Amino acid sequence: MASQLLLNETTDFLASHHRMLIGGAWVDAASGETIDVFNPATEEIIASVPAAGEVDIDKAVAVARKAFDTGPWPAMSPSRRGELLWALADLVEDHADLFNQVEVLDNGMPYNPAGAMAGPRAAKTLRYYAGWPTKISGLTVPADTPPGADHPGVTYVQREPIGVVGQIIPWNFPLGMAVMKLGPALATGCTIVLKPAELTPLSALLLGQLVEKAGFPEGVVNIVPGYGDPAGQAIAAHPDVDKVAFTGSTAVGRKIIHAASGNMKKVSLELGGKSPFIIFPDADLDKAIASAGRLAFFLQGQNCMCASRLFIHNDIYDRVVDGVAKIAAGMTIGPGLDPETNIGPLISAAQLDRVQAFVESGSREGATLVTGGNRLDRAGHFMAPAIFADARPEMKIVREEIFGPVTCAQRFAGDDLESVARQANDTIYGLIGSVWTRDLETGHKMAGKIRAGTIGINYHGPADISAPFGGFKQSGWGREFGAEGLNQYLESKTVVTRF
Ligand code: NAD
Repeated sequence: MASQLLLNETTDFLASHHRMLIGGAWVDAASGETIDVFNPATEEIIASVPAAGEVDIDKAVAVARKAFDTGPWPAMSPSRRGELLWALADLVEDHADLFNQVEVLDNGMPYNPAGAMAGPRAAKTLRYYAGWPTKISGLTVPADTPPGADHPGVTYVQREPIGVVGQIIPWNFPLGMAVMKLGPALATGCTIVLKPAELTPLSALLLGQLVEKAGFPEGVVNIVPGYGDPAGQAIAAHPDVDKVAFTGSTAVGRKIIHAASGNMKKVSLELGGKSPFIIFPDADLDKAIASAGRLAFFLQGQNCMCASRLFIHNDIYDRVVDGVAKIAAGMTIGPGLDPETNIGPLISAAQLDRVQAFVESGSREGATLVTGGNRLDRAGHFMAPAIFADARPEMKIVREEIFGPVTCAQRFAGDDLESVARQANDTIYGLIGSVWTRDLETGHKMAGKIRAGTIGINYHGPADISAPFGGFKQSGWGREFGAEGLNQYLESKTVVTRF
């Protein structure tokens, strides 16, 4: 089937002069520097955006500071804040087709199903957060009566927005990441400086246009595309930023922690993963195999939750490896706009080289490459999805996050859950994991033993936006989504009254 045609609004948006949003004005970088944006499926330049430097970040933080300290935003009634978020969600929904195409062109994700979900999912996320401003409440505390007093007075705890928030996001799901960050910060009354990834800045800039249309006061949302260093670094280190929320690699997360230490700003981190996908012999194998194949390669494996370590019971090992390999080999590789495509390009030449180096190291260290792993001889950063069998815990492909379409199969024997959990937990990461079994006792016991923020039983992925999501160990600090996600943007203030 032919690739879908670009909408006129997509071509118009791409061809427009992209600027960054600072204090309600669309501006170029002070230095005049720009970043070329490539379509990873064709390697063609599709747009050019300003590259924010320290001066631009200073300006953005100053207007966000003003909007927080003296602007109408934190003082606005919760219901009005909710209405604005809802209005933004409606606008995103109205422009869903445009967002979907921009995401596919900028990131390379296949339209089916990821690209087609981008706009509608973003609207849903914003609606979820639109419901929150009116529900953020504190508590009263039954304090002891002080000696000599006849009444304890009143002690209550109120919840206040944390202030100016810097948000730094990755390239793998650009619009989704932007709304996951903006939603809770706006719901709580914070003001924001958002830096999209330099490789995928377009959907965030488009979102900025709709933020303006929805009627948010100026300076509340500032969108500054730029490189990690200097722009991201300047946000993380800035003395007037009260909190930094970061999603990205564990290595950069460590840099953020150091940079944030100057003014001890609050830090939340959503980092890498190396998720175990554990299949017991009593599992519904057709479902488990189909899910492993899909979830190892979703977004070309450029996905912090992907099923990158398959633990398979000896009795079913060959059948599962064979099944996942068949799924991988049967995938259609091509540009995301082609509705037949299951695997799009990797994000960049550098990422493809990186993933190829992992494939070479897997073979060198003695794992068996069952299928795929080769780069495609055509324009675009394409490679065939790969599965390694006979992987061992000390191998680089098992220890490190590949962030590409490569999964590794390891065996386990017997029914000692403790030993299976030990294998699954042998990683610096702890983002998610899953257990595939028809025995609920095995499922729940394993859920208790795996050290990760989300565990699926016959399911692999995040639960829902209403449930907390985040990592144990080096997969992060804090949680997004649900009430816990809101807490990341709130301070508690205790007020004590004595009569
Ligand atoms: P990355 O860490 O290279 O970049 C992420 C963001 O940080 C980008 O905006 C980048 O410009 C910025 N950055 C880079 N250097 C910086 C610095 N010194 N200071 C401040 N900011 C800096 O990550 P990536 O390659 O864009 O994304 C892939 C990583 O993201 C993977 O490790 C993946 O697991 C992780 N990720 C995690 C989650 C999660 O929810 N846990 C979700 C998606 C992606």
